[in-house]
Amino acid sequence: MLNLYDLTYEQLSEFLQEWSFSKAHARRIWNYLYRELITDVAAMQELPAKLLARLREEATLGQLAISRQTAADDGHTHKYLLRLHDGQQIETVQMISVKGPAVRVTACLSSQVGCALGCVFCATGQLGFTRNLTAGEIVAQALHVARSAAGAERLGNLVLMGMGEPLLNYDAVLTALEVMHDSGGLAIGAKQVTISTVGVIPGIVRLADEGRKFSLAVSLHAATQRERLAMIPAAGPWPLDELMAACRYYTCKLQQKIFFEWTLIAGSNDSAEHARELAALLQNIPAQVNLIPLNPTAGFAGEPGQAEAISRFREVLRQSSIPSSVRQRRGINIAAGCGQLAGAY
Ligand code: SAH
Ligand code: SF4
Repeated sequence: MLNLYDLTYEQLSEFLQEWSFSKAHARRIWNYLYRELITDVAAMQELPAKLLARLREEATLGQLAISRQTAADDGHTHKYLLRLHDGQQIETVQMISVKGPAVRVTACLSSQVGCALGCVFCATGQLGFTRNLTAGEIVAQALHVARSAAGAERLGNLVLMGMGEPLLNYDAVLTALEVMHDSGGLAIGAKQVTISTVGVIPGIVRLADEGRKFSLAVSLHAATQRERLAMIPAAGPWPLDELMAACRYYTCKLQQKIFFEWTLIAGSNDSAEHARELAALLQNIPAQVNLIPLNPTAGFAGEPGQAEAISRFREVLRQSSIPSSVRQRRGINIAAGCGQLAGAY
């Protein structure tokens, strides 16, 4: 069966041409999929009967069934455990932020079932790796959020910060982003997309070489290779000095800054000395640091960095003119940390 969500607009057009239907039909189908957000091929009633019959026979919309759903007390964060066709489960989070009259809907998407990197503090890492997601499975997560948020606002932002390492599933992730970028569909601009990577050097270089101007977040957590390996046991193939060289290459080539993520673990990487090391590492790189206080997981004993340590850390960065922000731990009461819901079931 052909999953229509796997196809870019170009690919869909080519398919229809092979079936002797026109570009206008491709546009109509695209509209059904990404504007009307239909959930069943049979809903495309205005298509020629012959085309609809063929689609019903050969194509599907790879819908993801909800296994579990939780909402944070703030009512703005919803976390979904979604079931794939082979019974595997992934997490998708919908976040709605309200600033004055502006409402922003963001989908946090998974790129893999589990993850092979094994970051010690991460619930997904604790699960291990099962498989890559297809482009259609990534798109289906965004559509799920777009539908659930439809009453509030249209889906406008994507973050690849769910389960898995997006740059180890590069082709499917980039195809999915192309599908979601199309102006006749979800129309999500590159700047509205953040790819978070643990630091997969070939992927960072490829984004730069291909001129993909998404926002890029690199998860560092440590400023020496030895300390980084203690947190990300599988980061061996990507030495820190080579990673920073790749980051410099990326910022030069694309003329845009990189966000560096730092999961703050009390007594482990939250001292002023750690902040000074980080500041030294980021010299000459247009950067912003996102500090994420550790979200406790069953498989890791660490504690989140405390408010005082966070302020001290930020002050050191500020003295080096490095902007920083602290990621709100929204939805911590609904186990909305990466991989935590899937881990629990
Ligand atoms: N694999 C990618 C993207 C998914 S993880 C990456 O590692 O960047 C998204 C972010 O959540 C990463 O910065 C990761 O370090 C962070 N994260 C994972 N588990 C966490 C936890 N328990 N507490 C705080 N941050 C966590
Ligand atoms: Fe994988 Fe990212 Fe979790 Fe590390 S933090 S195990 S790279 S998903």
